[in-house]
Amino acid sequence: MLPDSVRIVEVGPRDGLQNEATIVPTPSKIEFVNALVDAGLTEIEVTSFVSPRHIPQLGDAAELAGALSPREGVRLSALVPNARGLERAREAGIRRIALFTAASDTFTEKNIGMTVARSLTVFGEVAHLALEMGISIRGYVSTAFECPFEGAVSPQRVLEVTEQLLALGADEISLGDTIGVAAPTEVERLIELLRRRVPLGRLALHFHDTSGTALANVVAGLSLGITTFDASAGGLGGCPYAPGAAGNLATEDLVYLLQRMGIHTGVDLGRLAQASAIIERTLGRRLPSRQLQRLGAASAAETRNRSATRGTSREAGGGDVAGDPAAGTPTRPR
Ligand SMILES: [Zn+2]
Repeated sequence: MLPDSVRIVEVGPRDGLQNEATIVPTPSKIEFVNALVDAGLTEIEVTSFVSPRHIPQLGDAAELAGALSPREGVRLSALVPNARGLERAREAGIRRIALFTAASDTFTEKNIGMTVARSLTVFGEVAHLALEMGISIRGYVSTAFECPFEGAVSPQRVLEVTEQLLALGADEISLGDTIGVAAPTEVERLIELLRRRVPLGRLALHFHDTSGTALANVVAGLSLGITTFDASAGGLGGCPYAPGAAGNLATEDLVYLLQRMGIHTGVDLGRLAQASAIIERTLGRRLPSRQLQRLGAASAAETRNRSATRGTSREAGGGDVAGDPAAGTPTRPR
C-alpha cells in the first residue's frame, strides 16, 4: 500500500551548498530559500551553525537565518554541532535543529572529530538545552548502509544509534545513504528491522544518487510505509567520496516520481525548477537533476518555437539557439 502523501525535507541550502566548491553569496541564498518556499516546500534545512573555518560555504549562517522571515506552515531548520552552535541558531530565530552523527566511528571521527558515542554525549547536552528553549530536534544517522572507510554497516548498529538519538528527544531520524550505494533490498532489510522498535512516522530516508539507485530506494521505502524523504533542489551538492559523481537525490526528480505515482507532495515542479535556476546562475553550471534538465530543455524549445513563428528566418536559423544556455553543451566540470 502506497501513502497518499509524502513530506519532503529540502536539504539543498545546507547539505547541497556545503558540498559545492563555490561560496554562494548570502543574497542568492535568501532568494533561493524564498523560492523553495514559493514552490511549496514546507521543511527546509537552511544552513549549519558550524565554525566558518570548518565550512566556509555556510559561514553566513547567522546572517542568512536572520534574514529569512518566518512564514505560516513553513519550518526552517539548521544543523548545529554543539551548544555554541545552538545558541547562535536560537539568536538567529531558528526553531528546529538537526544533530548529525553516523553509524560508523571512522566516518564521524573524520567528519565531526568525535566517535559516535562521544557525539551522542555532546548531543545529549545540546538536546536538553534545545528542548528547554522549545526548539525541536531532527537527528541524522549517516552511513546507514555503508561507510566509505569501514565498508558495510550492520542494520543493528543503525537501530542502536537511531534509538539513542530518539532517547535524546529527537522527533525524527533521517537515515542517510551517505555514499549512495544502497539497493532497495538493503532498504527493506533496514526498515524491516527498525520498524519493530521505532514508529515508521519517526523515520526519514536520505538517499544519494551516486550509483543511480536513489529513486528505486525511495520506492522501496514508500512500499514499507516511510512517508518522509530528504532531497536537494537540482541535486545540489556532489559526492565528496566520488568527485564528479551525483550526490543528493534531486528534489525535482523525487517530486516528479511521486506525482506520477499519484502521491501528493504539495510542491509545484515548475516553481521548484525556478528556485534551482537561481543557484545554477550563481554557480555558473547545470545541476544534475534530470527533471530540471528536461524542464530547461522544454522551455528552451518553447522559446525557439515562439521566435520561429514570430521572427524572421534569420532568427529561426539557429543563431539564437546557439547562444541559448539551455541548449548549449553542459558546463559541469569533470
Ligand atoms: Zn545528503
